[in-house]
Amino acid sequence: MPAPKPILLWFRKDLRLRDNAALAAAMDAGREIIPVFIWDDEGEGNWTPGAASRLFLQRALESLKKDLEEHRLKLVLRKGDSQKALEKLLEETGAMGVYWNRRYDPAAVQRDSEIKRWLREKEWEAESFNSSLLYEPWEVSTQQGKPFQVYTPFWKRVGALDRPTPIEVDLRKLRVPESFPETDSVASLGLVPDHPWVEKVDRYWKVGEASAEKILSDFLEDAVDDYKEARDFPAQHGTSRLSAYLHWGLIGPRQIWEAIVEAGREKSSGGQCFISEIGWREFAYHVLYHFPDTPESPLREKYEDFPWEEDEEVLQRWQRGKTGYPIVDAGMRQLWEEGWMHNRVRMIVGSLLVKHLLHSWSHGARWFWDCLVDADLASNTLGWQWSGGCGADAAPYFRVFNPMTQGKKFDPEGDYVRRYVPELADLPTKVIHEPWEASEEVLREAGVRLGDNYPNPIIEHKKGRERALAAFEKVKG
Ligand code: FAD
Repeated sequence: MPAPKPILLWFRKDLRLRDNAALAAAMDAGREIIPVFIWDDEGEGNWTPGAASRLFLQRALESLKKDLEEHRLKLVLRKGDSQKALEKLLEETGAMGVYWNRRYDPAAVQRDSEIKRWLREKEWEAESFNSSLLYEPWEVSTQQGKPFQVYTPFWKRVGALDRPTPIEVDLRKLRVPESFPETDSVASLGLVPDHPWVEKVDRYWKVGEASAEKILSDFLEDAVDDYKEARDFPAQHGTSRLSAYLHWGLIGPRQIWEAIVEAGREKSSGGQCFISEIGWREFAYHVLYHFPDTPESPLREKYEDFPWEEDEEVLQRWQRGKTGYPIVDAGMRQLWEEGWMHNRVRMIVGSLLVKHLLHSWSHGARWFWDCLVDADLASNTLGWQWSGGCGADAAPYFRVFNPMTQGKKFDPEGDYVRRYVPELADLPTKVIHEPWEASEEVLREAGVRLGDNYPNPIIEHKKGRERALAAFEKVKG
């Protein structure tokens, strides 16, 4: 009997072996597997992964390659147009077809649909699966059959559905082909820019499927019980830091929920709060899928004509963490240093850019896109339109964060500011979130020279707030 023809397993944002539905299906079909990854930057439309995200991807591919080798499989890497690369590989290997896990961002939806149609027309097999979400965007709808635009009813609706469990993948049953086609090397994909910044960010992330599982189990052991309270305090290690692993699929949400249940935390306040944050990720994908224009345009149309300002110098001061607002500068410098920023601080820096500085949320989204290891079109768009008051379930535009109050409440000892803004480290806690309130003597003793080694506020808080509200009045009607 001739061996059944192999299947190309097309890896994308599912860079793991466990809970991988496409892999499980190929194995269940008794197929030999040829794992493939294609770096098709043009196929990503306007949103080719940014520098930090590509660094994380590079490390994730190196790790996946090793994991596959342990099972005698070779990861075949190619560069360029996905369809052409798949066609070439199908011809080279004589494979039956291609299996993959679905993506939900507009460029990928369009490209993947075309590829599926083309494969089937050519009588190749083409099957896709879900390994990124608990519930796919079309599985959840309002009673009128419409997509949700508000998180709470969305999450309530999801609560009425069965909990999806991870897909079993018994790797002992893997069927390995006798030979594999030629592959490019991970380095030759050219993912990572030649810049000293790369080396710095790299130090903060241990990337791989096993690392993701370890981060989750450590979090469940050490932090989940306090998560509900601690998650808002950026100086603490109170959140999981799993976002980039989730984005590239080194771990999936089904596995996370299962692990919470196994740890007996499903009903605890920390466990429930954590699952509900995974729910925000689900909601973000729901919104992106049903409103695919949102990465470029506000969901609430009246904000299309918002009177934004454009000032390159202002934008650069925000990007580099030189606004003169300590909590904001700490956040922007954490982003530059680590490729990640705490959620509470993402909201604070977002509010300052969009409201005090009247710069469009899209500038913020682009900067985050390039700098975040977890840059994710769904969550980034939702987060920025939330900050801009113009998206699904967004904070109203007239609610303007006060950076000093936020700093005092969520960084009460000033530890976070001291960590990332060393020029303020010696200030007493009382003034660390508003150095301009310190006496000359206090500033001198702390070595702070306002307007010299630390900037004065880029705009006075009261003035920024009033300007934002006046601009909002113009679009309110
Ligand atoms: P945890 O608190 O441990 O939460 C667990 C997981 O739940 C996260 O890993 C993430 O997948 C999900 N999650 C938590 N909060 C949110 C949220 N508000 N929206 C969607 N998912 C959430 N998240 C991204 O993954 N990529 C982005 O590009 C992104 N951009 C953002 C931009 C702005 C302006 C804002 C306000 C938020 C953004 N977020 C983004 C959401 C959130 O800040 C991060 O998911 C979170 O900080 C990641 O840290 P963590 O893994 O420790 O989160």
